Amino acid sequence: MTRMTPLLERNEQFARSYTTTPMAPPAAGVVVLTCLDHRVDPALVLGLELGDAPVIRNAGGRVTQAVIDDLAYLGFLADQLFGDQDGAEGLFEVAVIHHTQCGTSLLADPGFRRQAAEATGRTEAELAASMVDDPQATVRADVERLLAAPSLSPRVSVSGHVYDIATGRVTTSVDARYAADPLARRP
Ligand SMILES: [Zn+2]
Repeated sequence: MTRMTPLLERNEQFARSYTTTPMAPPAAGVVVLTCLDHRVDPALVLGLELGDAPVIRNAGGRVTQAVIDDLAYLGFLADQLFGDQDGAEGLFEVAVIHHTQCGTSLLADPGFRRQAAEATGRTEAELAASMVDDPQATVRADVERLLAAPSLSPRVSVSGHVYDIATGRVTTSVDARYAADPLARRP
């Protein structure tokens, strides 16, 4: 017995009407980075279909070295496989999406942060740097961090957005730009 049993039954329903998805550039031209929170599923929030967009998720949807490494590889892969296709001026846009009511915001409390450090083996400073307490601020900081990463392809653009758990609405905080572009931010 596993808690997966009812989900595997749902998969059986899915597979019955499934037709294979070919290897192709992401149809939406976007790679989504967002929080692993189960209230923030980009397939539902953004209406993504199979083949539309790769999705990277971690606690908070933060730009970490692991995320930068994955995006560097995705950029390389897209360039190798599809870089010569017409209209492939840019390979893809990375949409960083942070959200309100993030579980990582609990780390703003020093006592909670100290307990979390003891439980996870991470330092309090690391945990403080990983939290999303003010999503408008963290999404701007993470767009900058990603654009400054030397391993990110110059043909990959980055934008920043905030998902409001209360309304279901995503708003843009930082317009898409390439590392070489001048600053183009919304107020
Ligand atoms: Zn979250």
